[in-house]
Amino acid sequence: MKSFFAPLIASLVMATTVVAAWPINEICPVDAKAARPIYRIKTAEGPVAFCCMDCLTAFEKSPGKYIVIKKDPKK
Ligand SMILES: [Zn+2]
Repeated sequence: MKSFFAPLIASLVMATTVVAAWPINEICPVDAKAARPIYRIKTAEGPVAFCCMDCLTAFEKSPGKYIVIKKDPKK
């Protein structure tokens, strides 16, 4: 397991702590409302935030159905 996590830890060290922990999106991918960081799940792309628990659950059931609009990480 240690070797599996090594690349992940390396990429986290390069990013700042705030950027690494913050969701990659600002808009809820399920209903396009403002996302709240407290409702978030980890995906292959990074943490994705939702406006509410219902949206989070809907996304978890079928992630391919929704498009996550990423915010610009350079901002
Ligand atoms: Zn939502």
